[in-house]
Amino acid sequence: MLPPVVRVATGNRHKLEELGAILVGWPLDILVAGADYPPEDADTYAGNARIKARHGRAHAEPGAWVIAEDSGIEVDGLDGGPGVHSARFGGDDPVGRLLAALAGIDGEGRRGRYVCELVCLLPDGSELRGTGLLPGRVAHAPAGSEGFGFDPVFVPDGEQHSVAVLGNAWKAAGSHRARGARSLLAAAEAAGLLPPTAPAAQR
Ligand code: IMP
Repeated sequence: MLPPVVRVATGNRHKLEELGAILVGWPLDILVAGADYPPEDADTYAGNARIKARHGRAHAEPGAWVIAEDSGIEVDGLDGGPGVHSARFGGDDPVGRLLAALAGIDGEGRRGRYVCELVCLLPDGSELRGTGLLPGRVAHAPAGSEGFGFDPVFVPDGEQHSVAVLGNAWKAAGSHRARGARSLLAAAEAAGLLPPTAPAAQR
């Protein structure tokens, strides 16, 4: 049964749009929970997503489902960093800092992946999870203007261009968030909770 509303505990509209492209028919809306989000100090993406989801659960309508997401980029030449610390990496210039950190590193050292972990808390407090990975490599220079964050320098496997060049339409189907949303959808389906407005034919 579809809930009356699904609150997404984020201030990032890109994330809402990417999730909405996969969770077709889910009545997604940004949770307005003020600026008082607790610190994301867990040591895993899922832990941070759960912190945001619990905050959302406390502020959302009792009947709403609450989805929170945590994501990041892991680069092999940086021992998997910045990883769970991606949101705080580089301040106003995360791309510049990433390129500087990888200066002099070529080939395998530039390989990496985007990771997305989703936590969905239902009204009864039970939890659904979704996970998505997008493998690729960090380019030597930024290109493109769509997306956000590291998208100008991240080139997914099988592609010749950065995610920012590939664009929002590509991200809607191909991003780590899209993959995570598909995995969440599968978890909802497995729990017998698949919204009737999102039949298989629509996905
Ligand atoms: P979060 O908002 O706390 O999950 O932080 C995720 C951080 O990881 C963002 O600030 C970006 O730096 C990076 N990131 C996650 N997903 C993406 C993406 O789709 N494109 C580019 N950067 C991303």
